[in-house]
Amino acid sequence: MASCEFVDTCAFFKEEFRDNPHTKEFLCSTYCEGHFTTCARYKIAVSEGMSKVPRDLLPDTLKTAKCFSGI
Ligand code: SF4
Repeated sequence: MASCEFVDTCAFFKEEFRDNPHTKEFLCSTYCEGHFTTCARYKIAVSEGMSKVPRDLLPDTLKTAKCFSGI
């Protein structure tokens, strides 16, 4: 399966997730290297640009993503 086009610019993918590395591993395999079109960060990046994605937003936080227009 293809990887997300934002892996080079996405803070979540690039930075360590020190508090819970297992959660990051799970989220990356589920979203970044899998179903990236369902990722909250991806949805905002596509519609508003990666610079508008809240730094601490997790891929599975769709409730926050819905606050942005067009999602
Ligand atoms: S967290 Fe979302 S936007 Fe970032 S690389 Fe993974 S799938 Fe793409």
